[in-house]
Amino acid sequence: MALGEFELIDRFFRAADGPANLRRHGVVLGIGDDAAVLESRAGQQLVAALDTLVEGRHFPRGSVPRSIGHRALAVNLSDLAAMGATPAWYLLALTLPTADERFLGEFAGGMVDLAHEHDVVLVGGDTTSGPLSISVQALGFVPNGEALLRSGAQPGDLLFVSGWPGEASAGLQLLMQAQGAGAPEGEHFERLRTRFLFPAPRVDLGLALRGLASACIDVSDGLAGDARKLAAASGCGVSIEAGQLPLSAALGATLGRERALRAALTGGDDYELCFTVPASRLAEIPERLVNVKYPVTCIGVIEAEQGIRVRDAGRPVGFDLGAYEHFIT
Ligand code: ADP
Ligand code: MG
Repeated sequence: MALGEFELIDRFFRAADGPANLRRHGVVLGIGDDAAVLESRAGQQLVAALDTLVEGRHFPRGSVPRSIGHRALAVNLSDLAAMGATPAWYLLALTLPTADERFLGEFAGGMVDLAHEHDVVLVGGDTTSGPLSISVQALGFVPNGEALLRSGAQPGDLLFVSGWPGEASAGLQLLMQAQGAGAPEGEHFERLRTRFLFPAPRVDLGLALRGLASACIDVSDGLAGDARKLAAASGCGVSIEAGQLPLSAALGATLGRERALRAALTGGDDYELCFTVPASRLAEIPERLVNVKYPVTCIGVIEAEQGIRVRDAGRPVGFDLGAYEHFIT
C-alpha cells in the first residue's frame, strides 16, 4: 500500500518520541508546524553538522535498511563528537523512490535506536520522492568557547586514535564481495561488516576530551588523510608510527599485516576520533578516559614540518593517501 507523505512522517518518525521526552529535550514545538522551536541553553554554544548519504555512493545499493538509518544519524553524531558537543536534536531530509513500508519501518528503527542510545530527538525534516538519499542535520551544545577544533595542535603534541581504524573499509570490501560470490562467513567477517554497517559514534570520548585535547577530527575519509587535515588546519605536519597503529585481530587475520596497515591508514568510514594532546598533559588521559570502553592509542606526533610522514620501524612507508574526495578522480 502506498503511504502518503504525512502518514509516513506520523507513523515512522513522529511516533518515536513522546511529549515528555520532547519537553525534557527543550523542544517547544517539534514535528508538525512549519519549523521547530527549540530552547537555547545559557552559557552554551550551538554546534550544527549536516551530512548526506546517497545510495550507491556512501552505501552499496540494496544495503539493509536498518544500517542505512543507523549510518545516516551516526555520521552526524560523529561530527558532533569531534567537536566535543553534547548532541540534542536532529532533522531528517529523506528522498525516497517509493514509500515502502518494510523499508521505512527498518530504516526508522535503525535511526531511532541509535537516537535513543545517544538521547537525541527528531525535531523536523523534509520528505520528497526521488533516488534514495538521506540528509541528517544534528544539533548539539558545548560550553562557551570549549568546542574541539582541528586547528589547535602544536609541534610536539601527541597524536591519538580511538578504536580500530581500517575495520569498516575491510567490512565494506567484504560486503561488496558478498554481492558477487557467496558471503564469506566467520566471526571476523561478521565483526568487520558490522563495523561498516553500524558504526558507533564516539560521543563519550569527544566529551571526555573537552579542555584536554588541543585538536580533534573524526576519521571518515581515512586516518592518514584526516590526520593530515588536522595537522594542516593547525599549520603543522604529522608523523605516524605504523607499528603503533591499533590493528584488530579481525583485520590482521582477514587481510594480513601489510594490507591491514594500509586499510588502517587509508580506509574510510571508521568514524573514530583522531586527536592531539600536549605532551605535558599525557598523565591526565587515563583518568579522563576511565569510562571509555574502547582503546585509545598514541600513534604519532605533530611536527613543525608540513605534510604527513609514516614510518614502520624507522623506515618510511610510501602509500597512496587515498582520502576520499568527491569530484576528484
Ligand atoms: P513544508 O510544507 O513546510 O515543507 P512539510 O510538509 O515538509 O512542511 O513538513 C511538515 C512537518 O513535518 C514539518 O514540521 C517538518 O519538519 C516535518 N517533517 C517532514 N518530513 C520529515 C521527516 N522525514 N522527518 C521528520 N520530520 C519531517
Ligand atoms: Mg518540507
